[in-house]
Amino acid sequence: MNFFCRIFGHTWVPHSENPKIRWTASKNMTEMEMSPGAEPRLYLQCARCKQRKEYEPSDERLAS
Ligand SMILES: [Zn+2]
Repeated sequence: MNFFCRIFGHTWVPHSENPKIRWTASKNMTEMEMSPGAEPRLYLQCARCKQRKEYEPSDERLAS
């Protein structure tokens, strides 16, 4: 663990991983249609040590 993280705690910054966009060919095979994939995955990452943890919506509600 980062020295500063050990003293001050982690500095969590929200990140999101965009799902891979899947392209499927339409019927005439000349146009590509975008199909929605999974929901973007949200996670928190420490700005210092890059440690990750699961994003908890309740954290945001408390902050705002
Ligand atoms: Zn940290």
